[in-house]
Amino acid sequence: MDDAKMNADLERLERLMSPCVLCPRECRAERRSGERGFCGLGTEIVVSDAMPHYGEEPPLSGRRGAGTVFFSSCNLRCIFCQNHQISRKTTGSVLTPEELAEVMLNLQDRGCHNIDAVTPTHQTPPIMAALDIARRRGLAIPYIHNCGGYESLEAIRNLEGRVEIYMPDMKYGDDDLARVFSGAEEYRRHARAALTEMARQVGDDLELREGVAVRGLLIRHLVLPGCLENSFTVLDDIRAAVSNRMPLSIMSQYTPAAQARHHPLLGRRIRRDEYRRVVDYALALGFSQLFVQEVDNRHLIPDFHRDDPFAWE
Ligand code: SF4
Repeated sequence: MDDAKMNADLERLERLMSPCVLCPRECRAERRSGERGFCGLGTEIVVSDAMPHYGEEPPLSGRRGAGTVFFSSCNLRCIFCQNHQISRKTTGSVLTPEELAEVMLNLQDRGCHNIDAVTPTHQTPPIMAALDIARRRGLAIPYIHNCGGYESLEAIRNLEGRVEIYMPDMKYGDDDLARVFSGAEEYRRHARAALTEMARQVGDDLELREGVAVRGLLIRHLVLPGCLENSFTVLDDIRAAVSNRMPLSIMSQYTPAAQARHHPLLGRRIRRDEYRRVVDYALALGFSQLFVQEVDNRHLIPDFHRDDPFAWE
C-alpha cells in the first residue's frame, strides 16, 4: 500500500469524524468543535485500560497474551453489555496519538503477539494516527480491529492496509432485536456490508504463524438466551455475505448484566441445549473452524416470554 493512498485514507477517515458519520448512527456531531454525539466523545483518544490479555481466542492470546487496549465508551448501547463498566463511561486516560503509540510499543516490548483494539469504532481516526506513529517507531506485531459490527462501510474502506486482523462481533440477524437490545437501526445491513469489505481486505480465513494469528478474519457471535433464531440468521448471513471458511467464535459466556439483569428474556444464562443447537447449526452450514466454550448451567432462572421477545416492554 503506497504512502499517498494511506495518507489520503487517513484524511478521509478524519473527515468522517466531524460532522460525525464514523458509524451508522451518523449523529453529525461537530466533534472537532466540542459537540458530542451518541458515543459522547470528542476527537481525543480515551483509553480505559491496556494490558496483556490471556483470555482471547487461543490464536490471539498465544502464550504471551494479546496486547489489549480497551477504549472507553461505545457506539452501541447493548442492554446486556458484558463490558458495561468500560463501554458506558466516557472517561479514562486521555491520550494523544503519540502517547497511544507508546502504549502500543510498550505492549510489544512486553511480548504481546498483537495490538488488540477493543471497541475502536468511535475513536478510529486517532487510533490509526497512533498506529502509523507506532509503525514508524518499530511496531511490527499485527493490529486487530476488535469491533461490535455496527460499522460504517466508508470508515472500514479507509482502513485498508492498516488492519491486519478484523475481529467483528456479528450480534444480530434480527433488526428488531438490534433496535430493542442495542438501540441500533439496521444493524444487519450495516454489519453485513462491513463484513464483506473486511473479508475483501484481509481474506476470509485466519492466517497463523506458529499457532499465532498474523492476518485475516475471525468472527464472534454471543449467543443470547431465548434468541436462537437470531443466532441462526447471523450464521446464515455470514455464509451468504462472505463464506464459511473463517474461524467462528461462538460464545456461551453470556451473563445477565447491566439493564438485562432482571430482563424477562435476557435475565438468565443460556442453557447447554441452546448453545448446542447453535453450534450444530454452524456445523451444518459447513463452518469447520469453531471456537466453542463450556456452558455453566448453574444460574438458570425460569424462562419468560420466550416466544415473544418484546413482551417485557
Ligand atoms: S462515532 Fe459516535 S458521534 Fe460518530 S456517528 Fe457514531 S455514535 Fe455518533
